[in-house]
Amino acid sequence: MRVILLGPPGAGKGTQSKKLAKRTGQLHISTGDLLRENVSLGSELGQQAKGYMDKGALVPDELVIKMIAERIAQDDAKSGFILDGFPRTIKQAESLDKLLQEHSLKINYVIYLDTSEGIIIQRLSGRLVCSQCQGNFHAKNMPPKQEMICDYCGGSLYQRSDDNPQTISKRLDVYKDDSSPLIRYYDAQGILKRIDADRDAEPVLEEIVLLLKK
Ligand code: AMP
Repeated sequence: MRVILLGPPGAGKGTQSKKLAKRTGQLHISTGDLLRENVSLGSELGQQAKGYMDKGALVPDELVIKMIAERIAQDDAKSGFILDGFPRTIKQAESLDKLLQEHSLKINYVIYLDTSEGIIIQRLSGRLVCSQCQGNFHAKNMPPKQEMICDYCGGSLYQRSDDNPQTISKRLDVYKDDSSPLIRYYDAQGILKRIDADRDAEPVLEEIVLLLKK
C-alpha cells in the first residue's frame, strides 16, 4: 500500500508515520529526514538544500523529486511506503503520479491531518528530535522518560533549528501557499481522508489504522 500523510508542519506527520510504520511494517520515507541527513553528511544535495531549509522555504522541486524518485526505486519500497513531507507542491504531486503510473502503480490513500494553528505552534515550539533515530518527542506533551535522551535508542535529543518562531511562521505561510492546494488535488482523485489531528497522537493513530483497514 502507498500512503501519503499530508498536513501543515506540526500536524504530526512524522510522529504518525513513524508509529504507523512500526505498527504495519511499512517503509517510512520522510523527505525532511532525508534532506537533514544530506545536510549533516555535507553531500552536494545537502549543500544545495541547507539555505532553503534554514529559512523555512521549500527546497526546489527538481532536487526533491530526484531524491524521492531514487528512494522509491529501491527494493525496500517495492511493496509500498508511507510518505511524510512529500509531496509539498502540485508539481511534486504530479511528478509522483507520473512516476508511479510508469510502473502501473498509484497512491491508495492520502491522510490529511487537519490541525489548528494554535496547536501547531504549541507542538513545534516544544518538539524534540532524536539525533540518531529521528524519533519525535515533545517537552510537555510527549516527554522522554529521561531528560533529552531518546526512549527508543538512547540517542541525544535536540531542538530543530527551524523550530524557532520566525521560521515556523514562514513554514506556515509556505504551507498555505504551496502545499494546501494538495488537499483539493487529492480530494478530486477521491483518495483524501480527513482526520482531526488536534487530538493526542494515540487516538489519531488508531483512526488512521482503522481507516487503512477499510
Ligand atoms: P520537514 O521535516 O518535513 O518539516 O521538512 C523540513 C524542511 O525540509 C522543510 O521546511 C523544507 O525546507 C524541506 N523539505 C522537506 N520536504 C520537502 C519537500 N517535499 N519539498 C521541498 N522542501 C522540502
